[in-house]
Amino acid sequence: MRVGIVDADLIGRDKHRFPNLVCEKLSGYWKQQGAEVDLLLDYDHFDEYDEVYIAKVFTDTPVPEWLKETEHIHIGGTGFYFDKAPNLPDAIEHHMPDYNLYNEWIESEVEKAKARNTEDFNEKRFRDQFKEYTDYSIGFMTRGCFRKCPFCVNQKYDHVFMHSPLEEFYDKSRKKICLLDDNFLGCPNWKNILNQLISLDRPFKFKQGIDERLLTDEKCKRLFSAKYDGDYTFAFDNISDYDLIHKRLRIIRKYTSAINIKFYVLVGFESTDATDIENAFKRIELLMRFKCIPYVMRYQNKNYTPWKESEFRAMYVTLARWGNQPSIFKKMSFRQFCLANQHLHKTKGTLCSSMRAMTEFERKYPKIAKKYFDLRFEDHYLTNKGADVWNIKN
Ligand code: SF4
Repeated sequence: MRVGIVDADLIGRDKHRFPNLVCEKLSGYWKQQGAEVDLLLDYDHFDEYDEVYIAKVFTDTPVPEWLKETEHIHIGGTGFYFDKAPNLPDAIEHHMPDYNLYNEWIESEVEKAKARNTEDFNEKRFRDQFKEYTDYSIGFMTRGCFRKCPFCVNQKYDHVFMHSPLEEFYDKSRKKICLLDDNFLGCPNWKNILNQLISLDRPFKFKQGIDERLLTDEKCKRLFSAKYDGDYTFAFDNISDYDLIHKRLRIIRKYTSAINIKFYVLVGFESTDATDIENAFKRIELLMRFKCIPYVMRYQNKNYTPWKESEFRAMYVTLARWGNQPSIFKKMSFRQFCLANQHLHKTKGTLCSSMRAMTEFERKYPKIAKKYFDLRFEDHYLTNKGADVWNIKN
């Protein structure tokens, strides 16, 4: 029995570097049935396999037009079905992932890179891009979310429930744990989950973000004293949550002065006009005050990318380039970032796209520009209004 597995995002997205958990579970399941399993890196040899599985997460990942489900070709994932993706059979869903599925591909990438870069090649640094494949146990301890945000694929359930016990996907030879839970704080069992993770004494992270609207003193106390891996990621999707997020930021800052607190800032969903741009800056300003960093998330669904149709398309691009590079965001205001881009612009006498986007917006909306374009993260948190509740020594 030969089984071929295609991670369509790996083939179709240049910089994609995250294992597909469904592919790893399928591999684990079929290997246990005695099958020979291959990770396929193209769509050319399906006839050599008894069963072929193709999974993808992202709707805009390209796949061949001829690809369709047959008796032996199985297609799945949110990338194909968005919020209607069928569940896997339990025997596969609850199978230990095969964390070795990508090994051969990783080694071949390393060999190719060595051949290309004979002199200065730093293998350790190059391998770092594969750490999600090599260092983590990955799984869902809970599933579901009750919020039903209209831009989210998680529409199937109206509550959060326990899904996999840790031992179902935890491999103790791996240094870290990556949870893909949709909204674990919404699970009545959140305390047990956190306690179990903390008791393993190894770094863990919730990759999909944490619902800050559910934070309490007790939750913050546990979360921020844990061995957390990388950034704590939350979401600040709606400007209507402004006051609530403000309160939660105050709670967060009672328990940590860490700088690794990141918030997704969704843009281009409710509208793509000047109000949407202003709302993005307003949220970013609040985050700056509490020494948190944004990640500007430009909304798109499987058929439509509204910000690309907007008169402010270049503003959205510039905003994301500024906000999503922490090393730049921490040092430069939005205006300084545009000026720095202009400085590097090769065609003298013309404006670069960032500078053009900024000046055009400023000409039309000088009040918004005056309020936000010169805010600098480093200065702003020092004079913030929330400073009374947290105590960072500078
Ligand atoms: S809270 Fe998060 S997981 Fe839940 S519906 Fe909203 S975006 Fe999706």
